[in-house]
Amino acid sequence: MVDVAGPLTYRELSELSVERIKSVGEKRKDALENFGISSILDLLQTYPRRWVDRTNEARIADIVLGVETMVLVEVRSVATRRIKGNRVMVNVNTGDGTGRLSLTFFNQPWREKQLKTGAQIAVFGKPEMYRGYLQMTNPVVDLVGDRTGRIVPIYPQSEKSKLHSWDIAAWVESALNKCDPRGVADPVPVEMLQRLNLVDRLSALRGIHLPDTMTMRDDARRRLAFDEVFRVQTMLVGRKRALEHESKAVPHRITGPLIERFAASLPFPLTKAQQRVIDEITSDLAKSTPMHRLLQGDVGSGKTVVSVWTLLCAVQGGLQGALMAPTEVLAEQHHSSVSALLDGLLVPDEANLFGDRPLQVRLLTNKVTGEARRNVLTGLADGTVDIVIGTHALIQEAVEFKHLGVAVIDEQHRFGVEQRAALRERAMRGAQDTMPDVLSMTATPIPRTAAMTVYGDLDVSVIDELPPGRTPIDTKWVNGPLMEASMWAHVREHVELGEQAYVVCSLIEESEKLEAASAEETHARLSNGELKGLRVGLLHGRMKSDEKESVMTSFRNRDLDVLVATTVIEVGVDVPNATTMVVVDADRFGIAQLHQLRGRVGRGAVASTCFLQTSADEPGPRVEALVESTNGFELAEVDLALRGEGTLMGAAQKGRSDLKLASLQRDLDLIQMARDAAFEVIDADPTLSTHQLLRDELDLLFSQEEEDFLFRG
Ligand code: ADP
Ligand code: MG
Repeated sequence: MVDVAGPLTYRELSELSVERIKSVGEKRKDALENFGISSILDLLQTYPRRWVDRTNEARIADIVLGVETMVLVEVRSVATRRIKGNRVMVNVNTGDGTGRLSLTFFNQPWREKQLKTGAQIAVFGKPEMYRGYLQMTNPVVDLVGDRTGRIVPIYPQSEKSKLHSWDIAAWVESALNKCDPRGVADPVPVEMLQRLNLVDRLSALRGIHLPDTMTMRDDARRRLAFDEVFRVQTMLVGRKRALEHESKAVPHRITGPLIERFAASLPFPLTKAQQRVIDEITSDLAKSTPMHRLLQGDVGSGKTVVSVWTLLCAVQGGLQGALMAPTEVLAEQHHSSVSALLDGLLVPDEANLFGDRPLQVRLLTNKVTGEARRNVLTGLADGTVDIVIGTHALIQEAVEFKHLGVAVIDEQHRFGVEQRAALRERAMRGAQDTMPDVLSMTATPIPRTAAMTVYGDLDVSVIDELPPGRTPIDTKWVNGPLMEASMWAHVREHVELGEQAYVVCSLIEESEKLEAASAEETHARLSNGELKGLRVGLLHGRMKSDEKESVMTSFRNRDLDVLVATTVIEVGVDVPNATTMVVVDADRFGIAQLHQLRGRVGRGAVASTCFLQTSADEPGPRVEALVESTNGFELAEVDLALRGEGTLMGAAQKGRSDLKLASLQRDLDLIQMARDAAFEVIDADPTLSTHQLLRDELDLLFSQEEEDFLFRG
């Protein structure tokens, strides 16, 4: 327990109602609650969204025409006029002792109420000369109130509930003053603070709300942002270490004849990145703690070889490997490419006259039925099937492994937590209380900051290099009838050369049915129009799986020239002879999805082209990004910048552990530092028994749901 008279903890602050502040009565309390602020802690964690440095802002006399500036001024008069088209114009005269500035607002009638004569406001906009007066049109305005001090914090305000920045500022100041006598407890050890050059928590809270200098504000921000990411990292690292301590895995034999023969039989030398990643994985496999590793690698970066290598490490020691893929198409494809890679390899078999037998790779999906299915199931149970490749079928009740040593999960984000856990459990039934080693793979790169945050309980390996000899895909934005005509001409021309093409139909949110209809419509239109005379196939998610299969087979066998498809082809489809992709209404797709789709071409030695068609006059930032880059990691950064962190972190992140100050875009160093610090703390004290404050704070700030979310690896 924390000493009652000791420094105030976040928990104590969270138990003090905002009503404890004198000027907060019943009505204000309700307004604050609507704003998400009910405790003193909430109040202290409502950080300013801007700081106005009085000594640094331009005065009106210093204004340069046409250059955006912030000025601090006083409202002198306000007038509202109706203008043409029943629109409202509010004119505000302001000044600052060095000059006068008029502000004009169009269609913002509420400005009249907001801007009272005598009010101090910070105005940000582009100054212009209008009829001999200095003026800004529709500037950004912050009410500063009559705050004194050099730097004025500007808080998020709510016109509706009449919460003004200066009210919040005053309450925060009063809350901070209440904290002063006892101080605020700091969960980070002093020694660590010093080493990491972080200010203590109370200084940080003062520094973010009431800084004397901008440097103070920066130090405060750094410390408080550190706290946000440090909490997340401590949680994730704690979870990671707990898993490692609680379970054992079989230490695999990572070298030996099987691996050697496989390596020697590869038709190409591994890339440096593949080699590095294999080293990272095999060093995990050699340990008696189970591997939980995420392998990120762009489309075409060569993850398959890495996954096969991983599976073989299990087989070499007489155990089994499983590869689970999210779709039947993908599972089948993996099955054929993996079988090809392993063709001719032998595994030791004492029962056999020659002491060995061919390595067995089998497919298990819902389409494998009857006799064939029984054979696979028997082989898995008695250990004669070495590697199984399949879909969700792998985690069905009837599946028993003799001893599953390694599981690889492809496109892991397409599986739920339960499904991944089920695979692990399935494995443990056969395997005397050892866990299988798990390698999760994804072709959707996410920025390093996000990987550390979202997958922080996993180890992460990255293949950041493509095999040599790829011709980069030429990506073009297509807009208007002329460009579209030349796009279809391109398709016909390349079909003539013996190549093939995909046409991807627009994405229709939430409706596979409409999406299928749109694909059918496009298929009909193109077959009778632009692509008349070509062999055009159709593939969408509403087709029966044997229909899909036969279409894919025809396309693979070059019995079709063009495949009109929905996003079902997004994952894994591998037809190197397909060199052209047309994405219709490309602006309906996200960056990651467009990148995945585009990865279906550019898989052979021949140059490929991707056309992104839109109807809008501008390509839009997403299409533009795709045109400019083929690097998945670069695109992931753009995506993060465009969509913000919220979407990346998922809805579950909207809780109290929100990153308010820390940013996945800017704070790579800080996040890395927090992660290292978390390892240090957890490794010295895995259950945080000597870090009670920190532990209590994690309990306080993370809901169960968030913990589950963060631990979803
Ligand atoms: P991913 O699954 O990461 O999208 P794949 O494993 O399917 O990529 O590999 C894409 C293609 O590159 C395959 O045809 C594969 O045979 C080939 N490939 C993989 N590694 C190499 C390499 N080191 N050198 C040349 N080609 C490679
Ligand atoms: Mg793949």
